[in-house]
Amino acid sequence: MKITLLGTGGPRPDPRRMAAATLISLGDEHVLFDAGRGVMVQMVRAGIPLDRIGPVFVTHHHFDHIGDLFDVMLNTWIAGRKTPLTIYGPPETGRIVEALTTRVYDKDIAWRSLGEPTFGGWRPIEVHDVVAGPVVDTGRWKVSAEVVRHGEGLGLPPAFLARWTCLGYRFEAEGKVVAISGDTVACDGLDRLAKGADVLVQVCFLARSEIRGRHFERLAEHTLACADTVGKIAERAGVKTLVLTHHRPRPEAADEALLAEIAEDVGRDFSGRIVLARDLMEIEV
Ligand SMILES: [Zn+2]
Repeated sequence: MKITLLGTGGPRPDPRRMAAATLISLGDEHVLFDAGRGVMVQMVRAGIPLDRIGPVFVTHHHFDHIGDLFDVMLNTWIAGRKTPLTIYGPPETGRIVEALTTRVYDKDIAWRSLGEPTFGGWRPIEVHDVVAGPVVDTGRWKVSAEVVRHGEGLGLPPAFLARWTCLGYRFEAEGKVVAISGDTVACDGLDRLAKGADVLVQVCFLARSEIRGRHFERLAEHTLACADTVGKIAERAGVKTLVLTHHRPRPEAADEALLAEIAEDVGRDFSGRIVLARDLMEIEV
């Protein structure tokens, strides 16, 4: 089993990092978690056959996680995908996919279906809105989901929060566990996801020294886990390898030093192996 970190950035454009996308490959199966900016270009760079991608697990509906979902749907089809592409995600993932296929790219799909019939016509998308619990068990691998905390506590209206579900996923195969935190701060759902994981791919947005000022203090508390908490989370879960991702775009000159600082911060709380995620890095599990 192999993890490929396709995108290790966030919402803001970063010349060195694409947005959130993590691939787990098991033989010729390529299971994708999130589809942020640049995901398909990174697939090509990583040498992944585009028609073999799927299913896709969406953690939540911020654009740095689903911005290129249309690209996955369309380019897997153009590359020769013969079967429906299955997408799992929190409630309203179906609504988003429906909008993309019937209201945004409906003309593109019709143009290619009718004008370029050698593609064999549109290959549909199968969407499943999911909540916490077991999601899929193929016999070869299984995935379960947990609800995580990403923005609760920011004072968003209850009517909005009722529609805002963020998930993390736990992928199990060959006796190994890979946990994908999704965007979250420390919470019970993340603890359950990470429990005993061989690898935890964990959001870690800021070094301790960067958590300064009202905006970043609120962010570290309610929105994205940072270097002050992720080591503790991984240590109490007994994680073996902690992969730190979802990096903030930083000035070129400061980036490496701040990444090293993050590793140092986290290393004070965590005794396992720490990996600073970089785009296209591969991790054997
Ligand atoms: Zn994000």
